[in-house]
Amino acid sequence: MSTTAKKKTASKKQTTAVKTASKSSARFNVGTDKEAMKTSILNHVQYTLARHPESAEPDEWWLATCYAVRDRILDRFMETQRVHHQQKVRRAYYLSLEYLMGRLLVNNVHNSGLFEPTREALKELGQDFDSIAAEEMDMGLGNGGLGRLAACFLDSLATLDLPAIGYGIHYEFGLFRQEFSNGFQVEHPDAWQEKGCPWEIMRPNFVQEVKLYGRVEHRMDDKGKFHPEWVDYSTLEGMPFDVAIVGHGAETVNFLRLWESRASQEFDFNVFNQGGYVEAVREKAMGETISKVLYPNDNTESGKELRLAQQYFFVSCSLQDIIRRFFDGHDNWDEFPEFNTIQLNDTHPAVAVPELMRLLIDDHRMDWEKAWGIVRKTFNYTNHTLLPEALEKWSVPLFERMLPRHLEIIYEINARYLEQEVEAMWPGDDRKKAELSLIEEGEPKMIRMAYLSVVASAKVNGVAALHTELLKKHLFSNFHALYPQKIINMTNGITPRRWLLACNPGLSELITEKVGDGWPKQLSQLDAISKFADDAKFQKRFMEIKRANKVAFAEFVKESCDVEISPDALFDVQIKRLHEYKRQHLNLLHILTLYRRLLNDADLDIAPRVFIFGAKAAPGYALAKNIIRAINKVAEKVNNDPRVNGKIKVVFPENYRVTMAERMIPAADLSEQISTAGKEASGTGNMKLALNGALTIGTLDGANVEIQEEVGEENIFIFGKTVEEVEEAREQGYNPYDYYNSNWELKSVIDWLQSDYFTPGEHDAFAPLTESLLGGGDPYLVLADYADYIRAQEEVDKAFKDQKRWARMAIMNTARVGKFSTDRTISEYAEHIWKLKPVKIG
Ligand SMILES: *Cc1c(COP(=O)(O)O)cnc(C)c1O
Repeated sequence: MSTTAKKKTASKKQTTAVKTASKSSARFNVGTDKEAMKTSILNHVQYTLARHPESAEPDEWWLATCYAVRDRILDRFMETQRVHHQQKVRRAYYLSLEYLMGRLLVNNVHNSGLFEPTREALKELGQDFDSIAAEEMDMGLGNGGLGRLAACFLDSLATLDLPAIGYGIHYEFGLFRQEFSNGFQVEHPDAWQEKGCPWEIMRPNFVQEVKLYGRVEHRMDDKGKFHPEWVDYSTLEGMPFDVAIVGHGAETVNFLRLWESRASQEFDFNVFNQGGYVEAVREKAMGETISKVLYPNDNTESGKELRLAQQYFFVSCSLQDIIRRFFDGHDNWDEFPEFNTIQLNDTHPAVAVPELMRLLIDDHRMDWEKAWGIVRKTFNYTNHTLLPEALEKWSVPLFERMLPRHLEIIYEINARYLEQEVEAMWPGDDRKKAELSLIEEGEPKMIRMAYLSVVASAKVNGVAALHTELLKKHLFSNFHALYPQKIINMTNGITPRRWLLACNPGLSELITEKVGDGWPKQLSQLDAISKFADDAKFQKRFMEIKRANKVAFAEFVKESCDVEISPDALFDVQIKRLHEYKRQHLNLLHILTLYRRLLNDADLDIAPRVFIFGAKAAPGYALAKNIIRAINKVAEKVNNDPRVNGKIKVVFPENYRVTMAERMIPAADLSEQISTAGKEASGTGNMKLALNGALTIGTLDGANVEIQEEVGEENIFIFGKTVEEVEEAREQGYNPYDYYNSNWELKSVIDWLQSDYFTPGEHDAFAPLTESLLGGGDPYLVLADYADYIRAQEEVDKAFKDQKRWARMAIMNTARVGKFSTDRTISEYAEHIWKLKPVKIG
């Protein structure tokens, strides 16, 4: 048979296959029933993994199952991309250095409607779906809230049929694996790819080349036009890995493209020719270092050379990829902003601004004004924090060494914007110019990446109403005056598919029974269960489900921590990165207060409580690590002290991550959201917990404010200083000793921590912690909020003892937090920032 004939037969076969499939299932070209899944899983065991089904191990069943699911998803993926390409759609590009994806199998079978057939197929193959799914390692390519938000956004973008692509880094090691040893946090590398990565597809055809280092030569081109040239640079390659992102209902399948750094083939070759074998290999190692590991800092800036290399590497690959895709269908730069909108997730990808300028001006020979016009219509920036230590600034000398041409461009952007815009607004005001300059004077000079992002973006958004107001009032007040329409609010959310449907099947079934199955896509429908809040039968079922989740979590705690906890106790949960501003130490002071009260009065009438923590500390954050040690050591004492009679327990399972959150959240009664007011931009853990029927004890900070508005004051426990009161306390010269000396109970628990009671024979074990609270000036006002926190906790205790009241409150929380779906958040981004329309597939 000739080649053409072969091709014809193949395409004919394909058409028949498509037709057959569209009869049995509108969505897939391959069968999606139990039998088809069974065949497919078995085929992958045998022909992908080369194993006999009789001897296949659980991780191989997991792999084969993922491949079988992936086959079905890829059909939709290719169809989605075909439609997007054919219709020349406008696309949103999400640039993020972090994606905290967690496991993908459970989520993918739910979103693609393959959950039941997959589970049934595995059952007939003698395998249990849950234990197979548990084989998957978390894809933990992020630190905390920011990375998890990016993952939830991808889920909603696909679910809402919005054409979007996420870009990031294919880290070889994600966030470190945490262990405890004698209460200390110990970090281990996270080898998430150890068992294989069935979800990703390597795309050698779309490799990109990236330059670094070198210098700029200032030349004239043949028309006498100034033409700077970047020379003597090193080159790297970016290899893309794509992960399909399945929307709920599996209409649209978008993708996340992650870049892995490699040494450039060509560069190696040149050095080889000069006889520099060792140099070539070293250069290669440096090429491969860039995507090696995720920086484990949450909300702090590192300022390290490798970090800037990571940022530039993924940004440059992504922009070149975006431009390539644009010109595969368009031929005119003027149309670029019409078809492309780029979201910067924090300032981590802000170097995209000078990079796009460089590509336009140097590589595509565009005029400055035209290029700047395109840039300003293309980019948007999300700010995630007001914490000064988290605001990225790059030293000018470092930038100059690594990205010499980009530094020139930033200087040029700065000069023009100061001369034109700042001068027009505040004529002759040099102080304003210094305040607003993209360059901070000093030794060395620093580039303010947040300012660069604001100046270059069409829209800038905060992540909760309060946060956005504070941005306008403080961090960006000058910019708000200069560009009054630019700063807007986009309150964060969470995907209800992962954070209710998949992680809490008991509650999901109950909700579906009452309100139908539309809620995972229309979360505000949950409001319909509020009418059952006082219904005794409904309350009973709701609380039985909560109890079953607590039983399951108690079993996990028994296995992993060797601590027995009672599912009848109040599960008091604080799960989030360990940070002073999040105030895990305030929670600890409450534990110590109860412990002390119990030692004084064994009959103290309190509801039994289990304090549950999950948190990683940045490896270089000594105080955060000291707080972890303190919690672990207090836990040891409390859990083994017969005098407390089991009334309180403290558990801190190792290695908090998405998968752990999915276990803890459905089991939580109380959600600790106790940051110092003004410090937590939004929080999303607060939303996940409320959605699963946990009551919040919290400050008026971040999205807690909006959660209170939704659930009502009577269904939340608010305490502590407000933002205004915090500002006032600071202005009046806050002194923690005033509180320490006037509250004997507070004094005694801090003194207790200063003794060696919790670390017998080891003195000053928690000196960093107690010092920061006292001599260190208590920067996060822990002592100032202590008394009101204890009061609020007593109200919690009272409410929990009245199980009917508690049930009502819990139901109202689940019912009333529909606003916090990322479907709502993403719809707002699509309307107000991206001007993006849904595109129906098939
Ligand atoms: C949601 C989530 C976070 C964010 O929690 P906050 O309480 O908002 O800080 C962090 N880590 C993981 C694993 C999460 O799932």
